[in-house]
Amino acid sequence: MAVRSIVISGDPVLHSPASPVDDFGDELRVLVQDMFETMDAAPGVGLAAPQVGVPLRLFTYSYVDDDDHSWRGVAINPELWITPVPAGEADEDEDVEGCLSYPGERFPLLRSTSAILRAVDLDQKPFEIHAEGWLARIFQHEFDHLDGTLYVDRLEHFYAKIAAKVTRKRGWGIPGLDWVPGVDNLED
Ligand code: ZN
Repeated sequence: MAVRSIVISGDPVLHSPASPVDDFGDELRVLVQDMFETMDAAPGVGLAAPQVGVPLRLFTYSYVDDDDHSWRGVAINPELWITPVPAGEADEDEDVEGCLSYPGERFPLLRSTSAILRAVDLDQKPFEIHAEGWLARIFQHEFDHLDGTLYVDRLEHFYAKIAAKVTRKRGWGIPGLDWVPGVDNLED
């Protein structure tokens, strides 16, 4: 197992739709193990394969909810159904989101409060999760990655302008940039 480098916003792999997984062999198992290790090292609550430079439709997630229930797994070839996004403006405390491919930054974004995830695991066994709240947000964020969408692409105009400045200031928005959890510190 190995921690892989995480691709930063601007690389085409993050901005293009990923392909369905059709080979469930050893290479996929190694990828998933590495994704769990990379997600935990970052640390993050979710990681999509395009974020480690692999254009395939899968993501890992790891999250403990308010009832101390631990949600941890891999969703391969997922489908996602969501309730309508609530009207109004994103709350600067409650709705703040981050992304390992846009590291060290956080912006408010309204998301659907409920989602149904359907996917298969490494043994191609189907499963379904009815998610609420933050878990529903994680699923929406990771599912977006598989369609080439980053959360910063969804920001309200005010925050989108700030994000555009951050991208320029940090020299992001170009291909080939990445960082390695535990090696590079991008919080500063
Ligand atoms: Zn992300």
